[in-house]
Amino acid sequence: MDHIETKLAQLGARRDASTGAIVSAVHRSTTYAHPRLGESTGFDYARTANPTRQALEDGIALLEGGERGFAFSSGMAAISCVMNLFGPGDHVIASNDLYGGTYRLFEQVLARFGVAVSYLDFALEGALEQATTPQTKALFIETPTNPTMKITDLAACIAYANEHGMMTIVDNTFMTPYMQKPLTLGADIVLHSASKYLGGHNDLLAGLVVARTKEMADRLYFYQNTIGAVLGPDDSYLLMRGMKTLGLRMQRHEENAQELARFLDAHPLVERVYYPGLASHPGKTVQERQASGYGGMVSFDVIDERMVAPFLERLQLIAFAESLGGVESLLTFPARQTHADIPEAIRSALGITNRLLRFSVGIEHSDDLTADLAQALEVAGKEVHAR
Ligand SMILES: *Cc1c(COP(=O)(O)O)cnc(C)c1O
Repeated sequence: MDHIETKLAQLGARRDASTGAIVSAVHRSTTYAHPRLGESTGFDYARTANPTRQALEDGIALLEGGERGFAFSSGMAAISCVMNLFGPGDHVIASNDLYGGTYRLFEQVLARFGVAVSYLDFALEGALEQATTPQTKALFIETPTNPTMKITDLAACIAYANEHGMMTIVDNTFMTPYMQKPLTLGADIVLHSASKYLGGHNDLLAGLVVARTKEMADRLYFYQNTIGAVLGPDDSYLLMRGMKTLGLRMQRHEENAQELARFLDAHPLVERVYYPGLASHPGKTVQERQASGYGGMVSFDVIDERMVAPFLERLQLIAFAESLGGVESLLTFPARQTHADIPEAIRSALGITNRLLRFSVGIEHSDDLTADLAQALEVAGKEVHAR
């Protein structure tokens, strides 16, 4: 049971000794009979605990190497729950090209509760030291970031956080535990939008959180049960079903992404490619130290912003749609979609230009993906030159 492929394939398996069922049952009951006064089967009411959700929660805890897992109705519900650890006067330092929805939560909801958030590039020398105040309680890190694929040195940030009595929270959505395990490097909390690679099929909304220590698990469990944005039993089952093939999918996502990144990098109508597997990527060495791969996300700038509309219109196989991590390839225009809530000036300073496209490379044949990109780029390039 040492290898992650084995843990994934066996997720939720054989938990019911009375039947020997290989896959986890879907328990829809909201309530559970007590054997007698003062006794419980371990299940009383489904918000507090549900056997199907628990199989999933035990599974993600095992995969991430943590104490306890928690499943939520979405990635944002998971992040919202975790942020209840903070209150008025507290300060958090976060990655500066954070997922747009997380930024919106921090700026438009958490701020009203008196929690202040600063944003920075963790890779920038001295930036973290400068942003730290006596009120700083936590680092909130995405690595690679979304959409410009910046890499943050997790071990260095965790060491700094520990020295200053702060906790480290890592959004591991892009890498998944198949490629990166922040808790084993000493992070306190790891979380996921399981709607992406973990679910993997563009058919499920879910969030997962894992705590490294029992003390942190107890605090998070209180908030999960009290707030109640838990994942239902059918979705918990569907997520486990998807996760069983995570290893195979991640390998294929990455092989395709490597190939597509090289193709785009060599294309005359593409100005710049962001992919940590390219030799030109400044974070490549750190990525190789802390993760076992580069993932399946590739962002790129086309040479002229007027190319974007005709390019997206011309794609035939690759869908122009938000989200990522599914078997079907998707292309997103961050400036108008995922990152529209970030003010334009901040966006362009971060490199989220009006020419930047984010490609969630699926598991289709890479030749078909390359051909689709090639024909759409060619048409878009011609239209721009004709004007
Ligand atoms: C999608 C996403 C989220 C939000 O998750 P939902 O499941 O859509 O609520 C958070 N972080 C990252 C990195 C994401 O990609």
